[in-house]
Amino acid sequence: MKEKDTERIQRAVEVAKKAHEGQFRKTGEPYIVHPLAVKKILEEWGMDEDTIIAGILHDTVEDTDLTLDEIRREFGESVAFLVDGVTKLSSARNGMRDIDTYLPETKDNFLRLMIALGDDIRVLIIKLADRLHNLRTLSALPPEKQKKIAKESLEVFAPLADRLNMGLLRVEMSDLAFKYVDQKRYDYLKDLIEKYNKSAEKSLKKIESEVTEALKKEKIKFEISGRVKSVYSLHKKLAKHDQNINEIYDLTALRVIVEDVTTCYLVLGVIHSLYMPMGGRIKDYIAMPKQNGYQSLHTTIITKDKHVVEFQIRTREMHEFAERGLAASFYYNEQKLTENYKKGKIEHLPTNLLWITELQMTAARLREGKKVDLKKLKLNLFADKIFVYTPKGDIIDLPKGALPLDFAYRLHSEIGDHVIGVKINGKMSNLNRKLEQGDIVEILTSKNQTPKSSWLDKIFTSHARSKLLHRLNSKK
Ligand code: MN
Repeated sequence: MKEKDTERIQRAVEVAKKAHEGQFRKTGEPYIVHPLAVKKILEEWGMDEDTIIAGILHDTVEDTDLTLDEIRREFGESVAFLVDGVTKLSSARNGMRDIDTYLPETKDNFLRLMIALGDDIRVLIIKLADRLHNLRTLSALPPEKQKKIAKESLEVFAPLADRLNMGLLRVEMSDLAFKYVDQKRYDYLKDLIEKYNKSAEKSLKKIESEVTEALKKEKIKFEISGRVKSVYSLHKKLAKHDQNINEIYDLTALRVIVEDVTTCYLVLGVIHSLYMPMGGRIKDYIAMPKQNGYQSLHTTIITKDKHVVEFQIRTREMHEFAERGLAASFYYNEQKLTENYKKGKIEHLPTNLLWITELQMTAARLREGKKVDLKKLKLNLFADKIFVYTPKGDIIDLPKGALPLDFAYRLHSEIGDHVIGVKINGKMSNLNRKLEQGDIVEILTSKNQTPKSSWLDKIFTSHARSKLLHRLNSKK
């Protein structure tokens, strides 16, 4: 991707410089260093001009005198929409508690909230670039702040990157953050990986040359390279396997990149004819992609001298998508996507990928300079959901139309059974009031209260209904 410092981008830099004038980062540098770093990251990801401009301006509305209207006037609706999205995201986050005290559910919901509020996937991509630079410069913050941001990055932002299949970002973010969360463990595992790789180096070289020779014989065009496992993913895997490193089979992996899908299977066949594959470790993510759209063939083999190596086989296109994910689709292969769309191929994708494809389509149209209906960019993924808060700041997701009793039964059936009233946004309200996005809902209970059959009319979700019915029936 070539640098494209257009006039609009340069203008945005000037505007941001002026707006942030006199502000400094914790590192002591002028504040503008941060938006410029975000700009650079977005350029590296190959994002479109509007996203880059919004990235440059992402902190202005929240932290300076610049207004959204001024941004709209100068840079247009699309940029204003993106800056507004990023601002909304951070204010939603400010209303929340420290991640240490989140309910486990709230972590998931935070992720969902980000996606729902993100509206336009580019908002999330800007947010991720913002967080990445903050992590890269985390050493300037006091220790408690470091831990807080690092934890949140591990538990919310890195999973988000994973969801968007941005593999490179996920690895960089989680390893940067993990260092601050548990420095000792990080050092220990990093050392372990290095030692392991060193000891495996010789046999890996041998395997690589054997495979290279065999593939050349088959006249297959390919690239082969080693991939190093990230510290954090090893940490997570060890936790799953009772810390038994002997059960981790992908510490060393070789990646084979080929031209097309058929060749992937051909390569798998060649590798299996050379070495013994391990049972149950052959995974066809090409035919059955992971939920985030990741595609590749995986197999683990054992050599005669008992070395265990994982192979990952994929096309160039799959590789690009595995590393850069949704960001990649903003510049990669738009033409083909457009053609597939015209042919109606979009329907052959698994449902969970449809939203990604739709976004890719829109991105493709954007890049071709075609007009795009902004509403089409919105994620309909959670269109039927609302997110409401407990007074303590936990987020609960409910279907649109949910009522206070649905909320109460979602918290706990003990709470549901003893409801005597509800406060919404600090004001007494009644049980018929439909909850709205962002409401803070406080349920009032009394020990003496018992479930009423009249409540059945004040319930929207089947979850609450079945709990209430169960209680009413057992009372008889
Ligand atoms: Mn920022």
